[in-house]
Amino acid sequence: MANNILIISDIHANLAALQAVVADFIAQAGQPSAVWCMGDIVDYGAEPNEIIALLQQYPTICVAGNHELAVLELEEVALFNPDARKSVTWTQQHLTSASLDYLRSLPRTITITTDNADFTLAHGSPRDPSWEYVLESEAAADNFLAMETTHGLIGHSHLPIYFKMIQMDNKHAGVGRAIGEHDDVLKVGNYQTRERLLVNPGGLGQPRNGDPRASYIIYDVESATMRYRRVAYDIKATQAKIRAAKLPERFAKRLERGT
Ligand code: ZN
Repeated sequence: MANNILIISDIHANLAALQAVVADFIAQAGQPSAVWCMGDIVDYGAEPNEIIALLQQYPTICVAGNHELAVLELEEVALFNPDARKSVTWTQQHLTSASLDYLRSLPRTITITTDNADFTLAHGSPRDPSWEYVLESEAAADNFLAMETTHGLIGHSHLPIYFKMIQMDNKHAGVGRAIGEHDDVLKVGNYQTRERLLVNPGGLGQPRNGDPRASYIIYDVESATMRYRRVAYDIKATQAKIRAAKLPERFAKRLERGT
């Protein structure tokens, strides 16, 4: 049986985007054998319970993002701007008790092993799962040192960005940085190779690299490849739900700009 894993992050309660991603994944790779999610499944959008229900239809493993932790009051909401605080309050008022139980069950990091490699899943970064934005090679290099696994998967910046570390010898390593464009393929290293990856699949429900399409990755375990995908979805439907819920307008507006 094919072993294809759906890798996603930062859904932010955007059901139309998640549905479009699942449909694209199935058209490309068949049913996912697993879903790996790096958190921020709720907040900003108006459909948090629907997202949790959809994720629970699949064998999903997911870590908590800073928005889950804010909703659960496990992190300081005062660090959020006023619109974001409004959204946290709205989400707290609308989550069912079953959804809250699901959010409470999410750990901050997960390590998982496949035939090719092992992975650390974290929202921000392996060394600071709740808050660090890994945007530059220096921060990535520090995280490669902090990780016990060969590879890492992150979210939080909503950017489809990846870092590759190549170990030249015992003392010297180089870290490169690139943006994953639609259909770009990354070769996943194995335990023998000296290449390691730290990969962000991009923002599924609120992309921020100027492309409004939902962003995700197909991980084909047999061929040891990860492929970036961008998928158009019904942005107007999601905006209408955000407006009907009286969530701050900026969370609707930014979806059409991909910022
Ligand atoms: Zn996020």
